[in-house]
Amino acid sequence: MNFLKVYKAANSNEAYLIKGILENNSLNVKMLGENLSVAMGGLPLEVIQVDILVHKEDYEQAKAILQNYEKKIKSTDNRKKWICKHCSNYNPGSFEICWNCTK
Ligand SMILES: [Zn+2]
Repeated sequence: MNFLKVYKAANSNEAYLIKGILENNSLNVKMLGENLSVAMGGLPLEVIQVDILVHKEDYEQAKAILQNYEKKIKSTDNRKKWICKHCSNYNPGSFEICWNCTK
């Protein structure tokens, strides 16, 4: 197993968002739900924490991407997010250039 945990998402929605961001950067992503057996018992999927795993060789890159994500996306509102024409990443409305490719 050459995959390392790079991020712990608070719920499955965030997990899919993170997965999308990393995949936009051509990284191979795996998601690992720690509590899937609990989910079978009836807990709503939204409350399940999900580990985001990337390949060992991609770990540093993924880490850098996610640091950007946390710094820039989480601190701003997403009401008017827009999609970058160059790299297809989502950007918050307060950004004039893409946080990912700076175009
Ligand atoms: Zn971009």
